[in-house]
Amino acid sequence: MPATTVHRVYNFSAGPAVMPLPVLEEIQRDLVALPGVGMSILEISHRSKTFESILAQAEADVRTLAAIPSNYRVLFLQGGASLQFSMVPMNLLGAGQTADYIDTGSWANKAISEAKKVGRVNIAATTKADHYARIPNQSELTLTEGAAFVHITSNNTIEGTQYQGLPEVGADSGDVPLVSDSSSDMFSRPIDVARHGLIYAGAQKNMGPAGLTLVIIGDDLVRRAAEKQSTLPTMLSYAVHAENTSLYNTPPAFAVYALGLVMKWLLAQGGLGAIRSINERKAAKLYAEIDRTGFYRGTAQSDSRSLMNVTFRLATDEIEALFVKESTAAGFDGLKGHRAVGGMRASIYNAFPEAGVDALVSFMRNFEQRRG
Ligand SMILES: *Cc1c(COP(=O)(O)O)cnc(C)c1O
Repeated sequence: MPATTVHRVYNFSAGPAVMPLPVLEEIQRDLVALPGVGMSILEISHRSKTFESILAQAEADVRTLAAIPSNYRVLFLQGGASLQFSMVPMNLLGAGQTADYIDTGSWANKAISEAKKVGRVNIAATTKADHYARIPNQSELTLTEGAAFVHITSNNTIEGTQYQGLPEVGADSGDVPLVSDSSSDMFSRPIDVARHGLIYAGAQKNMGPAGLTLVIIGDDLVRRAAEKQSTLPTMLSYAVHAENTSLYNTPPAFAVYALGLVMKWLLAQGGLGAIRSINERKAAKLYAEIDRTGFYRGTAQSDSRSLMNVTFRLATDEIEALFVKESTAAGFDGLKGHRAVGGMRASIYNAFPEAGVDALVSFMRNFEQRRG
């Protein structure tokens, strides 16, 4: 059965999220037996030559895509971005040191809670008073001299805000490393890896299926982690995973394989510069419709709007419920906003087709005509 005959809805889910159709088709085609191997990716040993080369190729493609300098390691871990909330301070926050966290929303808050269990935390800025509708300016940051690191959330999946540029944290002088939770915008645009000490992201938003967390970490921070290695659970040490090239224990082989296919797809799109242009075009269409009359109201300040998660509201809870009901019936899935903030959220990650954005814009216009 050719996969193209299968009916697919427009999936606006925030994560796990839409994957590129050619990737799903390749997985389907090769699931029973990888070409030339005669076994499924679900069946092969993680110590086999086949899997070693799948892992190595996925890493090579990640490196090419993000132009990762040679003094950074790429790790394939488990436990989601949520485990990184703990691993980052456990590995990088020394006794007597302070870690700076910039509070831009729900996920940043979870990262802060976990860090506080490990050591001293300074909230370098928060936009809570503005309902997290914006990213703080550089001038609002109260950074700690000699902080262990500064933690940001590059894209706030729930609130629909995104850093438009990286904050200055002294990383250029090599002092204070920038740590970024990039779970919901990883590989949606070019990344200046050298300005970071560590970048982490759960795969299930923009890179593949759930069960895999990508970590890009500088060698200097691997060395810092090595100093704490003897005091940490083995599985929670960056030094252990770097030393064992992500093969200390059984990695999530299927997710690594699928992420590798998504990386190949991204390279075929023209890389991160090309995908950024597409993402900008898709998001601009939706924001233009949101701003057109005032019937819809964008929740993020316009200078902080996310290209990945477009959040908006309608006048009342009743009309929002109607919008969800009618959009679902029309074949749009996942437009209901996160339960913590309400409203609508259209997650339009890399793999979300532009035709789906066009269809949503038409639906929104039609809905306004009927209900406005
Ligand atoms: C989804 C998300 C997380 C949590 O990811 P898990 O992989 O479910 O642990 C953390 N941070 C951000 C920004 C997210 O979008």
